[in-house]
Amino acid sequence: MTNILEINDLVLSYGAAAAVRGINLHVAEGEVVTLIGANGAGKSTTLKGIVGLVKPSGGSVTFAGEPTAKRRTDWLARHGMNLVPEGRKVFAALTVAENLDVAASASNLRGHALKELIREIYGIFPRLDERKDSLSWTLSGGEQQMLAMGRALIAKPRLLLLDEPSLGLSPKLATEVVQLISRYSRDHGLSVLLVEQNARLALSASDRGYVMETGRIVAEGSADDLQDNQEVRRAYLGS
Ligand code: ATP
Repeated sequence: MTNILEINDLVLSYGAAAAVRGINLHVAEGEVVTLIGANGAGKSTTLKGIVGLVKPSGGSVTFAGEPTAKRRTDWLARHGMNLVPEGRKVFAALTVAENLDVAASASNLRGHALKELIREIYGIFPRLDERKDSLSWTLSGGEQQMLAMGRALIAKPRLLLLDEPSLGLSPKLATEVVQLISRYSRDHGLSVLLVEQNARLALSASDRGYVMETGRIVAEGSADDLQDNQEVRRAYLGS
């Protein structure tokens, strides 16, 4: 299997403080990979480094065989690497449908193909269909999360980077949102890098995982192996 994303010895710093201290990680085509770890471990910074919002001070990121060092975040987005940031960031004063339209106007799709895609997104997230004429600020946290993901899917990404999609959601909704992502990946061959504090949930929906502590990867493996790993169980699964 070829890798859609490869990270080698990546170092990311804020001023003099290194938040990511030389990590190696990859995502194969069609794989769902999770990066788990406690608060402040460097997970969000890793995602920001991948899309170029934080410039690497060492190492490399390769997307679909292409080094990203000279590429801007918007170029990467146009070529299929899309980040759904923590805290969602939908346009609060627009309706659900308008939010999707804004994303659509930035995509290459037009006419019938676009209508089909929007129909498909409402199929994946029926709650959005029910609330399509509601202003986005009136949505629940989970619905806003679905809208943020729906907007990202309109860009027809090859690699979706998701930062804490379960944040602020009830356990039931969090499970639903994460399982929807993993099902979409299976059905459409989408590659996903999922950052989560809820390790149990993330591992249940992923093929592989990495565990991050203070800027370093301290464990990696198949989701099943990590779920069985004593250290991981003790530190992250509460058992
Ligand atoms: P969380 O789950 O709490 O979001 P995280 O694993 O995503 O945690 P990061 O947000 O990547 O962690 O933070 C890693 C380290 O970098 C932390 O020590 C944090 O305080 C620091 N950091 C993050 N953003 C900045 C910033 N803009 N300026 C300075 N330091 C930062």
